[in-house]
Amino acid sequence: MFDVIIIGAGPAGLSAALMLGRCCRSVLVCDNGQPRNIVSHAMHGFLTCDGMVPAEFRRLGQEQLQKYTNVEIRSTTAIDARRTDDLFTVTLGDGSIHTARALLLATGLKDVTPSIEGFRRYYGAGVFSCPYCDAWEVRDQPLAVLSQRAGGEALAFQLLQWSRDIVLCTNGPHQLNSETLALLNQHNIQIYETPIARLEGSEQCFERIVFTDGSTLARAALFFQVQHVRRLELLDKLGCSLPDTYQQPIAPGIYLAGDVYRTRWVSGAVADGVELAVMINIELQKEELVRSYQTLKAFNRAI
Ligand SMILES: Cc1cc2nc3c(=O)[nH]c(=O)nc-3n(C[C@H](O)[C@H](O)[C@H](O)COP(=O)(O)OP(=O)(O)OC[C@H]3O[C@@H](n4cnc5c(N)ncnc54)[C@H](O)[C@@H]3O)c2cc1C
Repeated sequence: MFDVIIIGAGPAGLSAALMLGRCCRSVLVCDNGQPRNIVSHAMHGFLTCDGMVPAEFRRLGQEQLQKYTNVEIRSTTAIDARRTDDLFTVTLGDGSIHTARALLLATGLKDVTPSIEGFRRYYGAGVFSCPYCDAWEVRDQPLAVLSQRAGGEALAFQLLQWSRDIVLCTNGPHQLNSETLALLNQHNIQIYETPIARLEGSEQCFERIVFTDGSTLARAALFFQVQHVRRLELLDKLGCSLPDTYQQPIAPGIYLAGDVYRTRWVSGAVADGVELAVMINIELQKEELVRSYQTLKAFNRAI
């Protein structure tokens, strides 16, 4: 039996594993190799790791965990999780079944990209969703914003911080009100309503938008407002749902760290992992103290 099973070895899961390992806890970490930033060529905005390839970050994280022999990492999917009394039973894709006293889900989320040809291919390579992560590299260059939903134009205004050459592509007739149109006009943000046929570029990077009328628009990068799907399948299996307001544990013994619950950054996920590891350790310590107190009482009664 493990003290804690962590599902997901992204920044959140690995950071929790490190802290729990340092607390002398027995930990099992499992991961199926689908991190959210798998498409990204470089992560930014995390001190000491700015510009690092995300896969290298995870490799380093796993390497630094090697000396904690009380932490085991497996490359496999957690396919099922159940609660029985005070314990959790987790079934892994490699066929093994494990129990633990606490469960930390650091399963991240999936980004849903528009179904435009070339979009998935260039996501992370000139097609981005987060200005804080990727806009500095394309600052002062021609940028496009894809806005297909109400409020999507906010991203265009946000990007003015990084470039004055911005166009707004609505991929069909826009629904913008006169106030927004005036504001876009004031900032020289041109609107392109023609539907997008596909995105094109080099082997490595996005370079241009091709519209259905055959016209093209060269841009250094395209930003879009991403939609997320949290990876909560295991929570469903445990019969739990996400609370309306932030709380940890979200149910007795069940904790959530990183993007799956609240953060959207590598640094935030790392901080979340540490914070929750300490919280889990304290909860386990409390349980152990109560148990030893009960044992002591039983012992005193017996003698
Ligand atoms: C294109 C792109 C660029 C980005 N750039 C930056 C950046 O520059 N700077 C920045 O701070 N942030 C950036 N981010 C955001 C960053 O990737 C996330 O905030 C961060 O990865 C969240 O870490 P996490 O540990 O919560 O989740 P993840 O890194 O997504 O890790 C979750 C892990 O859980 C695993 N998993 C899920 N379900 C299971 C299961 N059932 N069994 C086993 N394993 C499972 C997955 O395989 C995955 O490895 C970027 C995101 C994208 C999409």
